[in-house]
Amino acid sequence: MSVDSTQRIQPTIDDARQALSEHFGYQSFRPGQERVIAAVLAGRDVMAVMPTGAGKSVCYEVPAVVLGGLTLVVSPLISLMADQVRALKEAGIRGSFYNSTLKPRVRPEVLRRALAGWYDLMYVAPERLGDPGFRAFAAAADIPLVAVDEAHCVSQWGQDFRPAYRAIRDFVDSLPNRPRVAALTATATARVQTDVRELLGLRDPVIEVSGFDRPNLQLASFELTPKDRERWTVNYARQHPGESGIVYALTRKKVEQICERLQDAGIKAASYHAGMSDSERTLSQQAFVNDDVHVLVATNAFGMGIDKSNVRYVINCGMPQSLEEYYQEAGRAGRDGDPAACYLLWSRGDIRTAHFFIDNIEYAEGVTPAEQRFLREQRERLLGEMIGYAMSTSCLRARVLRYFGQRMVLPPDGCGGCSVCTGETAERYLKVERRRQAGGRVFGAGGRALDDVRRERDERLDAVADAWVHDGSDEELFQRLRVLRKSLASEAHVAPYMIFSDRTLRAMVRRRPRSREDLLEVPGVGEVKLSKYGDAFLEELCR
Ligand code: ADP
Ligand code: ZN
Repeated sequence: MSVDSTQRIQPTIDDARQALSEHFGYQSFRPGQERVIAAVLAGRDVMAVMPTGAGKSVCYEVPAVVLGGLTLVVSPLISLMADQVRALKEAGIRGSFYNSTLKPRVRPEVLRRALAGWYDLMYVAPERLGDPGFRAFAAAADIPLVAVDEAHCVSQWGQDFRPAYRAIRDFVDSLPNRPRVAALTATATARVQTDVRELLGLRDPVIEVSGFDRPNLQLASFELTPKDRERWTVNYARQHPGESGIVYALTRKKVEQICERLQDAGIKAASYHAGMSDSERTLSQQAFVNDDVHVLVATNAFGMGIDKSNVRYVINCGMPQSLEEYYQEAGRAGRDGDPAACYLLWSRGDIRTAHFFIDNIEYAEGVTPAEQRFLREQRERLLGEMIGYAMSTSCLRARVLRYFGQRMVLPPDGCGGCSVCTGETAERYLKVERRRQAGGRVFGAGGRALDDVRRERDERLDAVADAWVHDGSDEELFQRLRVLRKSLASEAHVAPYMIFSDRTLRAMVRRRPRSREDLLEVPGVGEVKLSKYGDAFLEELCR
């Protein structure tokens, strides 16, 4: 393809679909993706608000391939960039990154290669956009698209405000040929959306706001004392052996404690918080992503942008400071679309602590008292919404969707997937311990009827969770494919999910492909991965 943007042939959505199939193994775009990509190909600015798991990255990865030139992806997730580049490589896309972890010595070389057309896509930290060397490079490069990931970071109305995001607009305007700008985020209330448009200087953008509902997520909110909620968490993990889960705790100390209790219970767990060194944190994250540990216990320092699709549960041991933060953390479960569960375990003490935090925020120098008051009120408002969710006596799903400006038509018998609608209580995973303490007697006489109801409901929930496994032989084959994936991943020095997602493995189990053509039909298997891994998987499938 020509490097000169004026001579370039404009690719069509069919070209994009072809690239999706070749690199990602999917035959069609999701509706939101298709609208975003069509707009990008047509040269328009775009603002895409899509929930986690909707497939935002495809919205710039596919254009990066078909537009030619170099697509820049601005992202605050520096620690993830190397992994993202590795995952792109697995899919046959040439990526690179430019951030503070690159030694100054090698930076010019990366830019030289980028100018020479070595890459389709480059991740760049917002702080680097102002570097004179980078500016000079960008002015000379052919950049058809700047994608701004986690675009809500530009707004101080959200929780993740990054001052460096304010420089993106100036950077884009400084380029000799203004590229299209695509802003992407999973979390944006109306207020934040307005900020994103204005502060990034989007020009007449196509706006795509996808539904925020994640139908595969079970939502639950239980009020439990700090002691009970830890016991609950350990029991839950114990009863879901081998499944990946994230446990969020409010303090470093709690993280360490819960991690230890899980380990004592024989569960492979690791911790992650800001008090650990960079290398310790990387080790924990890698072990989790590679399925070497099953449960990661973390403070909210963990996870923005974490790309592990097979997280089966997220337990918040304590209340986050806003519903945005909560839905983002909970949303890290089930990105592969398979059933997953999100538990909020909160106590009255959490609420007192949260108010205390807000009263004692340390403000940067130069923040006026009026601004301080504004910020404090803002935080109190966010917290109020969070408390409203935790205590809600109406459908949790409807409530969180309403918060994001989306109305939900609720069936008369509820959404079927939240603890308010299903009547699920916290008892289920407290029971184990109680039974042991009581020497086998679960509840006193008269508790039986209630117990039966609970059991019935538990069985129904189990049926949902196990829907994908038909019988024992399926499960056995699924486990064999996982083992194969793990060994291929270790050989290739990539994470297992970069080879195929759990969902793709399950589709293989269901369809039992016998040939390369069959295998190519499985969602998630594209030509690139077929040629790398197809034969190994076929061999296992045909055994
Ligand atoms: P987000 O960044 O919005 O959280 P991701 O880009 O991580 O979402 O995508 C979530 C999952 O959906 C990934 O496993 C991805 O491979 C899958 N996915 C993306 N696009 C499609 C598609 N068109 N068809 C099927 N699966 C898709
Ligand atoms: Zn509900």
